[in-house]
Amino acid sequence: MSTEPTILQPLIPQRIEAILKAIDTLSSSQQVTLVAVSKMQTSDAIRVAYGAGIRHCGENYLQEALAKQADLSDLKIIWHFIGPIQSNKTQLIAHHFDWVESVDREKIAKRLSEARVESGKTPLSVCIQVNISHEESKSGVLEEDILGLAKAISQYQGLVLRGLMTIPDPTLDETELRTQFRKMKNWFNQLQYLYPTVDTLSMGMTHDYLVAIAEGATLVRIGTGIFGVREKNK
Ligand SMILES: *Cc1c(COP(=O)(O)O)cnc(C)c1O
Repeated sequence: MSTEPTILQPLIPQRIEAILKAIDTLSSSQQVTLVAVSKMQTSDAIRVAYGAGIRHCGENYLQEALAKQADLSDLKIIWHFIGPIQSNKTQLIAHHFDWVESVDREKIAKRLSEARVESGKTPLSVCIQVNISHEESKSGVLEEDILGLAKAISQYQGLVLRGLMTIPDPTLDETELRTQFRKMKNWFNQLQYLYPTVDTLSMGMTHDYLVAIAEGATLVRIGTGIFGVREKNK
């Protein structure tokens, strides 16, 4: 599961500092949360990032995340689930995460809600994942389905609707990318008007977070830019 040799870990705080500085310079009115995407990174690397001020971590794979959460249970990390969700994983996800950013089906929302209520914890913060570039292979709802799913989520006791998340098509040029981010921002504004709990527009990763913030992102998810390149086979 290791990517970065231990010897390179001193780079992590430097990278975090540079990213936080860039976020601070670019964000105008909005507050921006930095989520460190720690998939395929070691618990040690996450501990280093935590020491440099990171409090939000994003994970894509449940089993891997649970192992790291156990290692890091002495830290006050806010865990975001950001990967595709299988329905047989909803119970563990609802019990072990604070946020789920990748909700894209009513059935999944319902199961997460039921499990969260059962856990006795405060409601789970959720974002609807939007397939804004209409990619066939991508997870996420199409734009026309955002309001329907938002309504369902808003009625589940175990969930609190926080906003929208997207991963745009990585092949877009900057003009196209901005167009997609603007569409997201418009949906976010509409949703905020309908549901007062909505405060999060999660868009922007290592290669496009500066553009995303300029277009109104309130949360960016950065992996490589903090931890270095991920190894494929863990
Ligand atoms: C892996 C991943 C990221 C981080 O990507 P980087 O390019 O490494 O910053 C962000 N969001 C999601 C949903 C991811 O799966």
